[in-house]
Amino acid sequence: KKVFVTGATGFICAHIIQLLVERGYQTIASVRSPSKSESLFALHPAWKEHVSFVYVPDIATPGAFDDVFKSEKVGFDYIIHTASPVNFAIEDVKEDLLKPAIQGTLELMKAAHNLGGPQIKTFVLLSSAVAVLDSAQDMSFAGRDYTEEDWNTVTEEEAIKTQSSLLGYNASKKLSEQAAWDFMASQKPGFTLTVINPDIIIGPMLQPIDGPRAINESNLFAVYDFFNGKYKDVEFVSFPFYHFVDVRDVALAHVLSLEIPKAANQRIILVSDLITPQLVVNIIRKHFPQLHNRIAEGNPDQILPKGVHPTGWNRSKSFEIFGDGWGYVGLEKSLVDTVKSILDLEKKW
Ligand code: NDP
Repeated sequence: KKVFVTGATGFICAHIIQLLVERGYQTIASVRSPSKSESLFALHPAWKEHVSFVYVPDIATPGAFDDVFKSEKVGFDYIIHTASPVNFAIEDVKEDLLKPAIQGTLELMKAAHNLGGPQIKTFVLLSSAVAVLDSAQDMSFAGRDYTEEDWNTVTEEEAIKTQSSLLGYNASKKLSEQAAWDFMASQKPGFTLTVINPDIIIGPMLQPIDGPRAINESNLFAVYDFFNGKYKDVEFVSFPFYHFVDVRDVALAHVLSLEIPKAANQRIILVSDLITPQLVVNIIRKHFPQLHNRIAEGNPDQILPKGVHPTGWNRSKSFEIFGDGWGYVGLEKSLVDTVKSILDLEKKW
């Protein structure tokens, strides 16, 4: 079976491609330029047999994906869309976050519908828990856990007006997911849509990284910034959200969504457990004594920052859809593997 995946240089996408290769899928993956595909093949020579690359410099350009679909003689069976800006150092919320996320999703859906052929079965969209949670209430939504019925209330106007990169990112994920569901309702394409909504993703890295600042945003603020000199005092560090999921679980959810009919036309929340600055510090200090001089101790018993009581998550749908073998990598293993991956990279820089 043949899969088209967008954003191959991404942290999560590299894991998705690795799984697709292991499971024998023929994979066509988009990157922005030939130099990016060369660095992916250099890191993963085993991919050469199963993966070919196509070049899409900017997913938000009108017709961005048309050539990809026109030039495939045998059409794709599945599509996985992961490319979207994950960058908090932006200049303009609309141009740098909203437009690429929303337009990029719509361009791909349009191309798949108009040019992709009738054999496309499933379109999997990597959305986010921020499309579900309430940006204004996430730390105090007492009473009940979030479910797939919930939607972030953030609006485009609010995000543009505040020019907050966090609110802009939340809006970009919510509005691009909403645009995808609206496209399904209005255009009625021949394929089904599955949306994956993971919380903060950490884990070992398979994507090309040429220096410390090139580590993906979530591994940076939730892990590496604790021992790269950025955070001095743990008690003053705050996270945008306080739950996480391991990248390997996120990748597996995407591939299972191609194979499991029950995943069709569903949003699926992915959350493993709580993550807080103090928990991260405690676990890294426990497993990596060589990092003690690079990481502040904080207050090991004060797990949640003062005043933070994050809303819980109902994860039952992921278990229901993905079945008996489904489970989540816990924080300790996820962090240990992430730190090992960073330390391996540090040796090369
Ligand atoms: P990365 O920054 O590692 O990957 C983003 C990918 O999108 C890169 O391949 C990037 O290409 C590509 N991309 C971004 N904008 C464009 C554009 N305009 N045109 C072409 N390609 C573009 O991020 P992650 O792997 O962490 O994120 C991947 C997806 O997962 C995103 O949709 C994100 O919203 C979602 N997500 C991430 C979470 C996290 O904690 N990391 C949590 C929940 C959801 P290039 O490298 O060339 O710039």
